[in-house]
Amino acid sequence: MTKYRLMVDGAWDEPEGGEWLASIDPYSGEEWAQIPRGSVGDVDRAVAAAKRSMTTGPWASLSASGRGRVLRNIGDAIAANKDRLADIEVRDNGKLLAEVQGQLTAVAEAWYYYAGLADKIQGTTIPLEKPDSFAFTTREPVGVVAALTAWNSPLWFTTVKSAPAMAAGCAVVVKPSEYASISTLALAEIMVEAGLPAGVFNVVTGLGPEAGSALVDHPDVSKIAFTGSEGTGLAIYAQAARTGKRVALELGGKSPNIVFEDADLDLAATGVISGIFGAAGQMCAAGSRLLVQRSVKEAFLAKLVELAGDIRLGDPRDPSTNVGPIATAPQYQKVLSYLDVARADGARCLLGGGPATASGLSGGQFVEPTIFVDVTNDMRIAREEVFGPILSVMDFEEETDAVQLANDSEYGLVAGVWTTNVGRAMRMSKALRVGTVWVNTYRTYSYMVPFGGMKRSGIGREHGLDGIEEFLETKSTVIATNETAPSNPFVMR
Ligand code: NAD
Repeated sequence: MTKYRLMVDGAWDEPEGGEWLASIDPYSGEEWAQIPRGSVGDVDRAVAAAKRSMTTGPWASLSASGRGRVLRNIGDAIAANKDRLADIEVRDNGKLLAEVQGQLTAVAEAWYYYAGLADKIQGTTIPLEKPDSFAFTTREPVGVVAALTAWNSPLWFTTVKSAPAMAAGCAVVVKPSEYASISTLALAEIMVEAGLPAGVFNVVTGLGPEAGSALVDHPDVSKIAFTGSEGTGLAIYAQAARTGKRVALELGGKSPNIVFEDADLDLAATGVISGIFGAAGQMCAAGSRLLVQRSVKEAFLAKLVELAGDIRLGDPRDPSTNVGPIATAPQYQKVLSYLDVARADGARCLLGGGPATASGLSGGQFVEPTIFVDVTNDMRIAREEVFGPILSVMDFEEETDAVQLANDSEYGLVAGVWTTNVGRAMRMSKALRVGTVWVNTYRTYSYMVPFGGMKRSGIGREHGLDGIEEFLETKSTVIATNETAPSNPFVMR
């Protein structure tokens, strides 16, 4: 069994505490590797290396185009190692191999995208109203970035934080989820081989309250870029405030998938299935609330039940599998507990509703694709994020009712809208208080399209041009072009 080490300052490094944690394959339930349990001392070394690399090291003196070339090489190296990285990620979190392979193509392309942006970061000149003065802005890297990531898509989360941060000239320390750290360690090794200077990308594995918290407190970390649960994210926000850090949070959701009577119902049914049963519902953007117009409710539910009934659970490496296991033991227990919560609150189970235990699934943590009807929007199953394959169905009469129901949530990450009426699509796009609206599609992510949450779903945006802004500070310089002293030095010029 492979015992991994930390990646600090461009080299493998032993954890100071000399302890390791088990990495479990959620399909077999077996330990397949061990990761170091990083501690404060390890974080100190990694942050010091990161700071050195971006202040006095080669990263600081490299031109912006030079940084872009290095990022491009990293993209090439990821593409060349795609199968190895995909295999590791699947062993760590049980995601479908086919999905991870597709995601890795986008991961490599995201590195190319931010490589191209590295030398297009520009300031402005400002036509000052004051005579004899000239003002301009420059954009500077925010400083050392701590990236804290969740287990459901480690390489994607690491990329959409690190690639823009590094394009901006920052150095990064990643603390991946303790449940799925190994693909991030493998990525770090690939980066060193691709010629990334030492210290620019470091990985300290370990537990959130230990290595993660040490990064949040570290005085030389300037920015926290976090993907994870709402509770942890908001606690980190408060903790980071004590040292004045910048914080970006990608948190959870209770996203509505809204089906109007004028929709292509077959298309919508596929989208709703993909939105809640894809990745076994372990998606921040899961479409966990189905809002369907009353006139088509029964017909639409019949389609859904038929499609969902055909879902094949199984080995995530098998190309015929549609849905894999729940990634972690605590998450499995949490999903099962919500089945009881929903029933206790009066929801009626239309499909599934329990653990999936058929032969071949016994070693893993499988949950049946589940549909609850008779749900009201005040029930816990309609308000709280489950992060599992449980769909809550509600209906509505008019478009305005759909908007009211959709927006009646503490969250605001994404929404799906299914309609053939362009005007309605535009009205819904405007009315929904969410970071992303998908019309007649769902789960259509791109590293080019800003992504992030309104309300308690997060702060800041990843992907696209907005994504790089998160890692830049604006500096203003004002220069007097005339050396005469002010007539009255005690008032502002
Ligand atoms: P989590 O909050 O438990 O952990 C996220 C990361 O934070 C992990 O690396 C963890 O070790 C670390 N952490 C935990 N406690 C910490 C602490 N006290 N200080 C510093 N770091 C700490 O989340 P998770 O269970 O890994 O991921 C699932 C959650 O992620 C879901 O709620 C989901 O909605 C959310 N998520 C959001 C997005 C998005 O882009 N909005 C994407 C995927 C997942």
